[in-house]
Amino acid sequence: MTKKQELEKIRNKAIACEKCALCAGRKNVVFGDGNIDAEIIFVGEAPGKNEDEQGKPFVGSAGKILASLLEKINLKRENVYITNVVKCRPPLNRDPLFEEKDCCSDYLQKEIAVIKPRIIVLLGRHAMDYFLPGLKIFLDHGKLKRKDGQNYFPIYHPAATIYNRALKEVLEKDFRKIPKIIEKISKTEEANI
Ligand code: URA
Repeated sequence: MTKKQELEKIRNKAIACEKCALCAGRKNVVFGDGNIDAEIIFVGEAPGKNEDEQGKPFVGSAGKILASLLEKINLKRENVYITNVVKCRPPLNRDPLFEEKDCCSDYLQKEIAVIKPRIIVLLGRHAMDYFLPGLKIFLDHGKLKRKDGQNYFPIYHPAATIYNRALKEVLEKDFRKIPKIIEKISKTEEANI
């Protein structure tokens, strides 16, 4: 099976999913989107209203911020893969519950296993908590973390910066580290082959 076929198989399972109560309120399941050969995956929290309507991750105001940050490091959203911990919109955009994250976990783990990214950028504390429980976003943002052979880079969620100028600068600064980090990881991995 090709990567595309494998992801399609996972997507088909996700779009029929009724494992948790979020399925009752959704317009669309928001599966990951982007370049399936990307070396970098961005993982957010859960879809919002626009994402639920369009069935695509990060297409609302947080998505615009993400797109502009990507542009600053010469990337487009088509160059990377973007997904969420939870694939259905929680009512009124509340935080996803533990059981909702747990029900969606298999889809996310399988997306990652197929794409095999060099680095997973964790957008905000929910994504960070899912992969790296116990860390604090205000302390650990912008620092490369390695766990079980996978590289992670936690940063603030783009939506957190909408009304907070100081955080916007912090997020931009962290984001600008990404190309260097990828270069460093690639060199280390190549040296280990
Ligand atoms: N916020 C997220 O965490 N994910 C989206 O897809 C949109 C907004």
